[in-house]
Parts: sequence; C-alpha cells; structure tokens
Amino acid sequence: MDTIQELMDAGEVLVIDGGMGTELERRGVPMDAQSWAGSALKTHPDLIRTIHRDFIDAGADILIANSYAAAPHVLRHAGFSEAEALALNRLSCDLVREAVAEAAPDRRIWIAGSLSSFYAGLSAWPSLDEARRSYALQAETLAAAGCDLLVMEMMLDITLSPLAVGAATATGLPVWVGFSVRTSNGQVLGLNDRTDLEFERIRDDCLGAGDAHAAGIMHSEMSDTPPGLDRLKEVWSGPLFAYPHSGSFRMPNWQFDDEVKPDAFAREAASYLDRGVTAIGGCCGMSPHHIAALSRRLGRDGRS
Ligand SMILES: [Zn+2]
Repeated sequence: MDTIQELMDAGEVLVIDGGMGTELERRGVPMDAQSWAGSALKTHPDLIRTIHRDFIDAGADILIANSYAAAPHVLRHAGFSEAEALALNRLSCDLVREAVAEAAPDRRIWIAGSLSSFYAGLSAWPSLDEARRSYALQAETLAAAGCDLLVMEMMLDITLSPLAVGAATATGLPVWVGFSVRTSNGQVLGLNDRTDLEFERIRDDCLGAGDAHAAGIMHSEMSDTPPGLDRLKEVWSGPLFAYPHSGSFRMPNWQFDDEVKPDAFAREAASYLDRGVTAIGGCCGMSPHHIAALSRRLGRDGRS
C-alpha cells in the first residue's frame, strides 16, 4: 500500500479533516483557560472520538489527533503531570484509531499527530530546556502511539516553532509544517498578535530546523491563505497542503463570527488545487459539514 509520502509525492488529492477544538466548543465542551482543547482529552474523550467519526463520514483521508494543545509544557499549567500528559497524547492517537475502526475499517485513513507552538500566555511560556524536552517527549509518544505523520500546526512563535519541528523530524515520521499568516497592507506576516513577524523569518527558521516532507498554510483566513501559499512557494517546491479557518479567537473561546458557509468554503478551498496544493481541509470553525461539501466538490463522496 502506498505511504502518505508516496501519495503526496504523486500529487494525489487528499482531504484533511476540520477543526476539532472548535467542534468540541460548538458541542458544549468548556475550553480550558490554560490548555484550550487539550484538557478535553481527559474530560470528553468519547465526544472527541465521535467528532473524528463525523469527519471520517464527511470524507476526510487525514485525521488530526487532538494533541495540538497537549504538549507536556502546556498541560502542566492545566494541572497534569508529565506522565499524565504523555498518556493523553497516546490517547489522542488511540481515539482516532478507534474512530476509524468503528466508522471505516476498510478505508485508508492517515493519523496525524499534532504539535504546535501554542502556549496560554506569557506566564506560561516555557524555558527553552523545558520546551525542547516537552516537544521531544510529545513527538516520540505520538510516533510510538502509531501516528502516520506529524503535523506542525500554527508555527508562529519564532523560538518554540523550530524546536518543535526539530523534535518532530527526529522521530523519522513524515513531518508537515503548517504556517499561519495574516496580511497587512499587501504584506504577508506571520499570524502573531504580539508583533509584526516577518513571514520569511518564521518560514525559513522552521523549514531549516528539520527535514519536512510537506509544507502549507493553515489556521489562516481564507483570503490570506493564497498569498501565504505564494510566499511559501518562493522557497518550497515539495508537497503543499492548506486548511484555513473561519472566525476569530478570544482565549479560550473561538468566536463563530462571519462563518463561511460550507459550499463557499468548498469552492474556495478546491481552488487551492490551482496553486499546487494537494491536501486540503479546514481548521477552526470548519465543521464536518464543511469537509463533506469539500469532499463532494472534489468528487470524493461515496468513498467508504
Ligand atoms: Zn485553527
């Protein structure tokens, strides 16, 4: 059977799932002030599995485990020990595997472990030693738990992001590096609310920190995603992915304002194919309805 690298290298079109944290919030799960959706692994594992199933039914080929805000240095601030945090990372992968076994045991679905530069606030900013150890343990745990790839989400912190990329590539799994961008006066910037971060800087630091297999733009406005992709392609000629968001974040809750409708999302997201993107999905605010519309648009329904 083809590996995810072989399919990506061959230009196969793959559907990524939508936002997990925002879907949990939409279904009534309180978001944690320190670990956002990370603590839901402890409090709402059954609902996480159900949402994975809904994304499988919507046609997703790649499911991202709910480990985005579950690095040990993040969960520590929500009251979890390192051992408990690593157990929750294993669980995040197991929940995807269980959802696949329940919903589509005969379909080839890839499990992506998520690592991010997420932290709750300046008071929760880890020391470099703590971050290095935390990312290494998280990446090794997700790899040992059976993830097929590791996706680096919201690489926007200039210090933490390269550490996370280095830890992920050390596992030997295929690594996808996801950047978040915004535009200002026609300029593409890293999506960082504390500073005007030059996109080139975070892009080059992260891509230079490890041997990535794919790169993309994620957790960015739909209108900012194409210019972000163009800036990425200036230095990146490998496989490309994209999964934009809809709405805005006010910690710890996503605001479902100006939500793009599923068909409009699908039309726009499918147009990323013209830019060479072959793995497409949604991030925050994008529900199973959005992914189902995208699957239909890409002619991928009726796959199970
Ligand atoms: Zn997002």
